[in-house]
Amino acid sequence: MGQVVGQIMERSKMCGVCKKRPSTRLCDFVVDYNNFMFDVPMSQQSKYETCSFPLCDECAKKFGNSDFCPYHAKLLRKIQLPEDMQLIANAVKYDDLFK
Ligand SMILES: [Zn+2]
Ligand SMILES: [Zn+2]
Repeated sequence: MGQVVGQIMERSKMCGVCKKRPSTRLCDFVVDYNNFMFDVPMSQQSKYETCSFPLCDECAKKFGNSDFCPYHAKLLRKIQLPEDMQLIANAVKYDDLFK
């Protein structure tokens, strides 16, 4: 029993992607916005859940000052609207500007 827990602890020190190199960082992707305060700046947020997937320098996907696991890096790209939808969103934005 104790040995199994020990093995998981040991594994969590390794990068979860390549499982070869030690993890040096955790995925910063916010997975639970339940406690996220939308009127508080990102730097002052404390109570939101991040993915925390263990990553090594090689496997971490960098977005500015944040590191994301490959899964969330892919998801982040999908958050951006496709070009045709972006045109519609922009049209609404600019329409508001000229009112
Ligand atoms: Zn790795
Ligand atoms: Zn992640």
